[in-house]
Amino acid sequence: MHRFWPEELVALRDTTRRFAEAEVLPRAAAIDAEDVFDRDLYRKMASLGLFGVALREAAGGAGLGAIGACIAMEELARCSGAIGNAFAIPVEAALFLDQHGNERQQQLIPGILAGEIIPATAVTEPEHGSDVAGLRTTARRDAEGWVLEGSKAWVTLGGVVDALMVFARTGTEGGHRAISCLLLDGKAPGILRGKNEELLGMHGLADCSITLDGVRAPADAVVGPENGAFKMAMANFNFSRLLMSAMALGMARAAFEDAVSYARQRKQFGGPIIGHQAVQFMLADMSTEIDASRLLIHHACRLYDAGLPIAKEAAQAKLFTTDMATRNVSNALQIHGGNGYSRAYRVERLYRDVRLAQIYEGTNQIQRMIIARQVEKEMG
Ligand SMILES: Cc1cc2nc3c(=O)[nH]c(=O)nc-3n(C[C@H](O)[C@H](O)[C@H](O)COP(=O)(O)OP(=O)(O)OC[C@H]3O[C@@H](n4cnc5c(N)ncnc54)[C@H](O)[C@@H]3O)c2cc1C
Repeated sequence: MHRFWPEELVALRDTTRRFAEAEVLPRAAAIDAEDVFDRDLYRKMASLGLFGVALREAAGGAGLGAIGACIAMEELARCSGAIGNAFAIPVEAALFLDQHGNERQQQLIPGILAGEIIPATAVTEPEHGSDVAGLRTTARRDAEGWVLEGSKAWVTLGGVVDALMVFARTGTEGGHRAISCLLLDGKAPGILRGKNEELLGMHGLADCSITLDGVRAPADAVVGPENGAFKMAMANFNFSRLLMSAMALGMARAAFEDAVSYARQRKQFGGPIIGHQAVQFMLADMSTEIDASRLLIHHACRLYDAGLPIAKEAAQAKLFTTDMATRNVSNALQIHGGNGYSRAYRVERLYRDVRLAQIYEGTNQIQRMIIARQVEKEMG
């Protein structure tokens, strides 16, 4: 497939792969075991220029679009799902601020690209996950600026955040119309972080709840139009869903590679298990579905990079790829037999890490609802 890629995308893939194999892979098991954010590795990704991969050149990026970001993501997540996940956060934040931020907010972009300013986004609340329009956190205007009150849940990199984008209700209207995004100093008084969540997988991302207790923000803290953040969030989800798809794809590829090499060396009934048709068929399905997923992701990326709407295509890529990856990582574990159930083999970590992809950036039930809605529109 890559034979048809332009030279700069092949170069990006090769550079990211070399970096991931040399720097990420040797750290992946320890990040999982220690569950501590690896700031050094985060900065190394930044110094390779990876956080600006999708950003336009005039804004300090590499201008390689969504397709560049997904190619880099696949290589990083192949070596560590958690590091792939960490990569997504600054890539999305830089794009979001470039597209919607005011002059003061855009001054943060160079620091984000350099890995010096760690961003995080807080949309989800303990009582409102899929139903984003129902969120309850409030930002109230007074003479000096904004005052925020509320509770946010599951903030990836929340424990180490420097620049926090909070989605809050800024008007009296209910539903999606009165929601704004406010950019806060992550260390501002009144930002109270919960302890890091104890998660099944994706360790080392300092994921935590955040309580906003009378947090003050300047008058120009709103990113984009006041009361217009719901629409911006939905548009942003299209991009982030492509990244999540590529993250799941990278993990599926890692599991496939491990399964092939295990099946070649593991002998039962007098020969390597790769000689059994049941194993061959699992590998054949994995290989086919991995390639199909990449085509689906890259197709949606090309539409996005051409400025075309991708609500259906992004949801399809996310649904298909993350279901595919969850199933195939499980099959790869099956090929490892009892060893697959042991921490001694990487597939055990992949099995835990990959499960998140069906849940976040919109669950796969929500992706089906989006696809159904778009299909209905298309059918008139
Ligand atoms: C590790 C981790 C990291 C995260 N990082 C972030 C982050 O950085 N920032 C952030 O804002 N959020 C983050 N999230 C939150 C994540 O986006 C939400 O968990 C996700 O959107 C689902 O919301 P929920 O957990 O409240 O589930 P719910 O919305 O309560 O859903 C529960 C179940 O009901 C189903 N369901 C809900 N509504 C419908 C419906 N209308 N039709 C059919 N089925 C439905 C869902 O599909 C799901 O199966 C993170 C979550 C996790 C676990």
